[in-house]
Amino acid sequence: MATFRNGKLVNPVMEQRIREVEEVWAPQLPDIHKEVEERLRRVVPNRVRNFKTYHLFEIEYDENIQYAGQINKLTYKIKVGPLFFRETDENKKQTIMHEMAHVILIGFSKHTKGNREILRRAGIHAIANDAPELNEIYQQQKDNYIRRSNYAIKCINCGATSYRIQKSKVVQYPERFRCSKCGGKLVVISR
Ligand SMILES: [Zn+2]
Ligand SMILES: [Zn+2]
Repeated sequence: MATFRNGKLVNPVMEQRIREVEEVWAPQLPDIHKEVEERLRRVVPNRVRNFKTYHLFEIEYDENIQYAGQINKLTYKIKVGPLFFRETDENKKQTIMHEMAHVILIGFSKHTKGNREILRRAGIHAIANDAPELNEIYQQQKDNYIRRSNYAIKCINCGATSYRIQKSKVVQYPERFRCSKCGGKLVVISR
């Protein structure tokens, strides 16, 4: 049975995922933030951003996210997509730690070799889906999704591209949105 949430139709699977995010992961964010900070501080003390609070990050389920997780560096909101829920609890936590590290580790916007090395030494997955056995599944799912997609949304600044099957809000009104990586303007390309 489908229900409504904030005026949106939500099926039982989505409902379950939203609840897991709200009830299991959201309450842990302050502890996970603290842990990421401590782990990074042991490796690169000078590159750890200090926040006055551990109640900074938010987390939300978004079924359009094609990675396990992504973070908006301006709002500190982590979004997790369907792939997140294929992971073990430990890998889910790693996904959250990785996304937080994008904000807490100064200079970590790209997954450069140097940044990946720092994360590995801190015991944080160096790419969002760092569990090797899962990488292939993710790649296949991503390829599949891209193949089935009808729209590409491209950032005119950094070139980051995401894909949509349905005519979602961002497809209809790209001018109302900004690139989650760099804040650049978006254009929609029909495929
Ligand atoms: Zn990343
Ligand atoms: Zn961009």
